Amino acid sequence: MAGSKRTNEKKLYRCPECGLHYEERIWAEKCEIWCRENKSCSREITAHAQENKTVISFPVPGSGKG
Ligand SMILES: [Zn+2]
Repeated sequence: MAGSKRTNEKKLYRCPECGLHYEERIWAEKCEIWCRENKSCSREITAHAQENKTVISFPVPGSGKG
């Protein structure tokens, strides 16, 4: 495949109710339904949102003990 442009951005699914983004559509759908019915967000669902995912840097294996 020849691609002149590469996008780093993943396809994200957005909850139209609260605007949070999810990698998986199932969460966006859950969120949308929840938001619509409850008029607020579920912590359990929004925890999966990109906005709430923190990037954790893990130590390089093999360079710890010595
Ligand atoms: Zn939502």
